[in-house]
Amino acid sequence: MKTKTGRVLLSLTLAFAFSNAVLAQQSATTVAPSAERLRAHVSFLASDKLEGRRTGTSGATVAADYIADEFARLGLKPLPQPAAKKLKNKFFQPFPYVSGVELGKGNELMFSFASNSNSAPRVSANQTGFRVGEDWMPLGLSTNSRVDAAGLIFVGYGITAAELKYDDYAGSNASGNIAIIFSGTPDGDNPHGQFARYEDVRWRAIAARNAGAKALIVIATEENFQDDRLSRLRYDNSAGDAGLPVIAISRRAAIKILGLGDSAALLELEREAKSRPTIERKAYSARTGETVTLATDLVRREADAANVVGVLEGSDPSLRNEAIVIGAHYDHLGHGGAGSLAPKEGEIHHGADDNASGVAGVLELARIFSAQRPRRTLVFMTFSGEEEGLIGSNYYVNHPLVPLANTVAMINMDMIGRMKNKTLTVGGIGTAEEWRSMIESANLMQGITVATAAGSPHGSSPGGGVPIVVAANGQPVVSSDPTKQFTLTLNSDGYGPSDHSSFYAKQVPVLFFWTGTHEDYHKPSDTADKINYDDESRIINVVSRVIQSIDAADKKPTYTLAKTEATGRSTGFRVYLGTIPNYADTNEGLLLDGVRDDSPAAKAGLKAGDRIVKLAGRGVRNVYDYTYALGEMKAGQEYEVVVMRGGERLTLKLTPAARR
Ligand SMILES: [Zn+2]
Repeated sequence: MKTKTGRVLLSLTLAFAFSNAVLAQQSATTVAPSAERLRAHVSFLASDKLEGRRTGTSGATVAADYIADEFARLGLKPLPQPAAKKLKNKFFQPFPYVSGVELGKGNELMFSFASNSNSAPRVSANQTGFRVGEDWMPLGLSTNSRVDAAGLIFVGYGITAAELKYDDYAGSNASGNIAIIFSGTPDGDNPHGQFARYEDVRWRAIAARNAGAKALIVIATEENFQDDRLSRLRYDNSAGDAGLPVIAISRRAAIKILGLGDSAALLELEREAKSRPTIERKAYSARTGETVTLATDLVRREADAANVVGVLEGSDPSLRNEAIVIGAHYDHLGHGGAGSLAPKEGEIHHGADDNASGVAGVLELARIFSAQRPRRTLVFMTFSGEEEGLIGSNYYVNHPLVPLANTVAMINMDMIGRMKNKTLTVGGIGTAEEWRSMIESANLMQGITVATAAGSPHGSSPGGGVPIVVAANGQPVVSSDPTKQFTLTLNSDGYGPSDHSSFYAKQVPVLFFWTGTHEDYHKPSDTADKINYDDESRIINVVSRVIQSIDAADKKPTYTLAKTEATGRSTGFRVYLGTIPNYADTNEGLLLDGVRDDSPAAKAGLKAGDRIVKLAGRGVRNVYDYTYALGEMKAGQEYEVVVMRGGERLTLKLTPAARR
């Protein structure tokens, strides 16, 4: 039964593949992908000169210029844009990007002792000022704000975890005061500990805000403050600010502020905070009568960042209005920092596989298709800001240069240079009805050889494979060599850790080509010499066949809602709402790109374009607050969700479902 089904399917696929082969042969010119050209592109993009192409750096701009020059050389055209005259390069689509944060002049941290007598205030003797940059540092997510003479409340690790029935704020009176916590979690460094998902200070900042705290102070882990990662200013472009001042202080400063005698006493407090039974933890109080005055002033530095977009207009008078986007991100991690897996900082992260390989693929496909006359319009697009949270592609889908309604498919290539065992992973299979058969036939075609008119010597297959179609004279016309095909790993999900996610969130069918991770991933050692260029050129061949199939069909790919696959990592969330959030938007609520059919969100009446501002009693400014609120919800229980819809504030009832 199994075998038979397999054979029937195979022959159907073969028939489809064969018709594609004929179509491909009909195209006027055939330009084959070149391993040497791929090597040249990757070698330049991953060279030391470009310094790892971190978004907002000159290395990224050199990469963008290189891509734009290639686009121009291949005859691609820029797309019309608002304020096109002001563009540094007509192929660029700039987007706002904060490349760094600096200390402004208004930072202040002052600790005031209680005055024992009620006599005249003794200001100077009772105050200790701390130096920004030495004793303390605002965190990149901190809001610029000032808190005058507020009380200080010690709350352990500052974690509120409903699902663990754990609350550091229980009975703490943090409201109106400044909360002070240890960095890290009660689990220590255990990445699989129950508190692992609260490691990021962002979650603790939300917990502090929810508890009514005016500001959050985090005590550094490292004895030497300059060695602590919290002492280094960093800004997360995908997240915005936390809604309250958040600072890190040195352990030395913490000893003074908490009125502890020495570092042994601080260690003892930390040990105690760790070992307390989670449920019965009581908040500690600092000495009474003391106040802290805190002002944070961060200057966010904007830098140039741009997607590079070139277009090859379609030849068919009506189908040219439909566009196929062919994309890859060109940014990488620069000299390390956020996202790096290198043991030490500072070295150039070359990013040959991630993702000079994908960009080289885009450039080769642009060369191949500019020698043909595709019916539909092909939009070649390389993104920046991917490593920091798909910023460039998110900006594009919110400011598209070709209407998204006319964008019939998005093909993404991210890390396609390290193929092992001839295995190719393709994601997004579940996002269009046609994808599976198109991918399978494109793969099959790799092993297919069609005899030319001259023919091959009598009796032998062209290309040396198994004969499939044999002519009346006994000569094989079409033969297949399975050893030339890839082993395909097909994933249905349209979401994933790269730019196709941004398009799928807008209901565009997507395909994601990937050769998998490896030991050099996100390390300086991801270099051009390690790329498998021969296999990459075969991948480009398969991708070009897929694009040809899309273009050859009169009907555009049929969008389907893909099954979202488990990420393998437990998020700890027990509930499912079925919202499709817009991750680019921050700080004015969570904008929804859509809701899944028949989901709790759909049943509650949530719609695309709604902005969630409150969920289950929690204020929602951005996706982090939203996620946080989600973590506190229970399946089957009714909650209120407040949304802004066209200037109107609506309160809806929402009942989450259980997550499988
Ligand atoms: Zn990456």
